[in-house]
Amino acid sequence: MKNPVQLGLWLLALTAVGIFGYNVYLRETTPPQRAYTEFLSELRQGAIAKVHIQGQTLTGEDTAGRAFGAFVPDVAALTPLLVEKEVVVTGEQATPSGLADAFKTLLPALLILGGWLIFSKKSFKGDFAAGRDSRFTPIKSERITFADVAGITEAKEELQEIVEFLKNPTKYSRLGGRIPKGVLLQGAPGTGKTLLAKAIAGEASVAFFSMGGSDFVEIFAGVGASRVRELFAEAKKSAPCLIFIDEIDAIGGRRSGGQNSGASDEREQTLNALLVEMDGFDSEETIIMIAATNRPDILDPALLRPGRFDRQITISLPDVKGRLKILEVHAQKIVAAPELNLAAIARSIPGFSGAEIANLVNEAALTAAKRNKDAVEMTDFEEAKDKIVMGLARKSVVVSEKDRRLTAYHEAGHAIVGLMLEETDPLHKITIIPRGRAMGLTQQVALDERLTYSREYLLNRIAILMGGRAAEELVFNRLTTGASNDIVQATEIASRLSCEWGMSSVLGPIAYRTSGDGFLGESGQIKPYSEMIARRIDQEIKHLIGDCYDQAAELLKKHNRFLHKFAEALLLNETMDAEEVDLVYRSYLKERELERILTENGGKNDSINTNEQTEVFP
Ligand code: ADP
Ligand code: ZN
Repeated sequence: MKNPVQLGLWLLALTAVGIFGYNVYLRETTPPQRAYTEFLSELRQGAIAKVHIQGQTLTGEDTAGRAFGAFVPDVAALTPLLVEKEVVVTGEQATPSGLADAFKTLLPALLILGGWLIFSKKSFKGDFAAGRDSRFTPIKSERITFADVAGITEAKEELQEIVEFLKNPTKYSRLGGRIPKGVLLQGAPGTGKTLLAKAIAGEASVAFFSMGGSDFVEIFAGVGASRVRELFAEAKKSAPCLIFIDEIDAIGGRRSGGQNSGASDEREQTLNALLVEMDGFDSEETIIMIAATNRPDILDPALLRPGRFDRQITISLPDVKGRLKILEVHAQKIVAAPELNLAAIARSIPGFSGAEIANLVNEAALTAAKRNKDAVEMTDFEEAKDKIVMGLARKSVVVSEKDRRLTAYHEAGHAIVGLMLEETDPLHKITIIPRGRAMGLTQQVALDERLTYSREYLLNRIAILMGGRAAEELVFNRLTTGASNDIVQATEIASRLSCEWGMSSVLGPIAYRTSGDGFLGESGQIKPYSEMIARRIDQEIKHLIGDCYDQAAELLKKHNRFLHKFAEALLLNETMDAEEVDLVYRSYLKERELERILTENGGKNDSINTNEQTEVFP
């Protein structure tokens, strides 16, 4: 320190830092303030345990042990109520302490100093500019981008648009278009929903506000709703920004609209406040809300209406390829041995979520460190995996190998029947990754949105639905509950086909019933019918489904080898798109072709040129 001026400046700076620290300390130790009216109503409910009164400043604790502060306009008037509610009251004269006094006199000078310090030291800026006085401080420090989110490419693509909106709101609202407000991410725990939301904020470089749905409700009367308002008020100051609400089902469950218990009343107030706030902000304040849930089915429909969470993106558990990508992301953080085979690890952990994979990598690194190794090896992963799988098995979320096989054959059954039938929608995707209550899924795409369905198309749909159970029966000779949803769907189609669309040859073109989603609204009977007709309807439905089942079983028996090939491919890949299915199909067809040629030529010719043969018999 050669320069005395510089030394003086440093001293001043140090003082300022000290004062700032004290200031922050003061704010931190000041309990959250409540409105006097709010305090009064809690007091009346007997929810206040003790208070300390200094002048007109009240600090206290509620029965739940939470500290709070409030300003009391008239202490004398309050006293009888405090006594009546048996609140422990302490207090002192309203003389501010010497330290606080000195602080107040010094404050302006200190503020100038503090200000100078902040603006001369850029590194301080980020921390203080955000404002520490609110509960809802945007998180901006750890910048997460899409590169940190592995494997869920489709969801990322869909959300890229949201990033654009946040980056450049005026560009999109310029012509009067309304920027979407809410996206609902649905998927099992640990599939990366929070990570994805953070990545959107990171990609767009906007503030990220986060709140768990249960945080809103665990508090008592009226606070949930006011927290929602507080959150939005803070967010509006930082717009464009992103608000993330985890576990929205905690507040967003269906409202009952009737008499309620206190707890659900509180929840509904919170939900109403959320809906009001969502409708309240307009497109000038670009705030995008992202909510996450594992239970989209229990959400109040009001939340999903246009202008609210009208975009829904499902995030499923990763398949082998996804797991490999997630492993790669997390393996970057550890010292991996060169012979570490991530692909083999990915294959060995079916059913693992992203969070479990992150946990696995971490456990493996810890295991290796415990053994004083220089790098993490395969054996460490094995050990870590066993540990995690055991934990998961206790929670019964791991799918057993037996169930995986069963699911693979079941889904292959659907797909093969679909491939072999003429008039039906092409296969889109097939997976044995569980989603919700379904063990697997076979998706077809409607080429053009069909407005009408032919009888043949409908019967083929029933056959495809039956393909799952038919395959199970053929291979395992066992009936399981895995097909229950298929059976419900098939029954519905068969019933509407004969009773609503008049396509049954036995019953004729007469509509006996309407179904729930028909134009007439409620489901019901339109034409009164006799016991005899009722019996005929039942028989007809039974026949239709029975015939379709037989057709599916027949096809699967005929293409038995394809079924095995397909199921094996599914067990290996877990998810297959139309192209991959086509590859398996063609390899099966080639095999059959070769076999046919071999048997036709059996004994006649020793040297076979398959190419030539194919040309002769195309
Ligand atoms: P969710 O919100 O769906 O319950 P999280 O986003 O909290 O799941 O995921 C927890 C952790 O798991 C993340 O912080 C991350 O380390 C890891 N993770 C989950 N999914 C992925 C993914 N797709 N890519 C990389 N890491 C992931
Ligand atoms: Zn099925």
